[in-house]
Amino acid sequence: MTEKADLQTVLDRAAAGGRITPEEALVLYRDAPLHALGAAADAVRRRRYAGTEHIATYIIERNINYTNVCVTACKFCAFYSAPKDTAKGWTRDLDDILRRCAETVELGGTQIMFQGGHHPDYGVEYYEKHFAAIKKEFPQLVIHSLGASEVEHMARISGVSVDEAITRIHEAGLDSFAGAGAELLPARPRKAIAPLKESGERWLEIMEIAHGLGVESTSTMLMGTGETNAERIEHLRMIRDVQDRTGGFRAFIPYTYQPENNHLKGRTQATLFEYLRMIAIARLFMDNIAHIQGSWLTTGKEVGQLSLHYGADDLGSIMLEENVVSSAGAKHRSNRMEIIDLIRKAGRVPAQRATTYEHLVVHDDPANDPVDDRVVSHISSTAIEGGTAHPELKLLASN
Ligand code: SF4
Repeated sequence: MTEKADLQTVLDRAAAGGRITPEEALVLYRDAPLHALGAAADAVRRRRYAGTEHIATYIIERNINYTNVCVTACKFCAFYSAPKDTAKGWTRDLDDILRRCAETVELGGTQIMFQGGHHPDYGVEYYEKHFAAIKKEFPQLVIHSLGASEVEHMARISGVSVDEAITRIHEAGLDSFAGAGAELLPARPRKAIAPLKESGERWLEIMEIAHGLGVESTSTMLMGTGETNAERIEHLRMIRDVQDRTGGFRAFIPYTYQPENNHLKGRTQATLFEYLRMIAIARLFMDNIAHIQGSWLTTGKEVGQLSLHYGADDLGSIMLEENVVSSAGAKHRSNRMEIIDLIRKAGRVPAQRATTYEHLVVHDDPANDPVDDRVVSHISSTAIEGGTAHPELKLLASN
């Protein structure tokens, strides 16, 4: 049998729902024709969502960046400020955070992502206080926030176990973890871009503890900082193995590195074809993860549309506010009407979803589309004034 026939055999098995090995995934990711890979992934998506396969989802949320002060100094990050750099560092007070929550509710948002640096003073108590205050005022908002890195950091600051930290912030109001900080899990690329972060094994261990305590999460991957194809597939394998044990990852969300304003400047970004191949191989390889999210924020709206034909079933969020990847150069902005239109033009029926992926509003009749153009993604003026953003972002923020 020729190599080509072997490849087709594996692709056919994957498309039919058979589990593929990491070695087979690497061959498909590297060598399968792009459209064949996408068609196989789309076949898997259609079968998984039989009956609702015509739908693609989005969510309305707000990222609330509570501080940019961080001791971890990841090399790819354009958002953080070192604690000693008092001219650049900023924090938000609780009133400011609650005001942002109120705006989110007013605009129909259902979820907040509390996201910030590893502040040297913020232990478990800080998160307990803020989550409890948010839930008291806005019980309808889902707090889908933080990740293993923040948990490791806050537990260390407070001198408690990770189990206790998770239990306490969950009881205070955290609903699920956003899976941030996964970056690249294999040791070599992780050390190269985030040398002070916990290891990939530890990131997964903390997620496994969280799943065991009833706190589900999503999972992510940062592509394009110089990792090899084999390391990308190893990242998927590490997550798939944990998922076999816990079932706690609701989604997998790859996104591409943005090269501005950070210490990795000049490194190659992942190409858009590599990104689409990743969406497809994730759908084929991660047969135990329900949702694969396409990204338009870092790759652009057209690629977001294409991702829906390469295995993605969700386009993520209309972020009423985003400052982290925007600080590194992500320039794409959108609004609710445009996302609905994008999904429809990609051949799907758009649906607004909840954090747990239930359909809240199915936009099956254009005559009933929402017309509120205030539901727009933007960058916070406070983050810009804080001094961390590129001048170009000031222009975007003022538009
Ligand atoms: S990615 Fe997060 S942990 Fe790393 S430097 Fe930026 S804010 Fe800090």
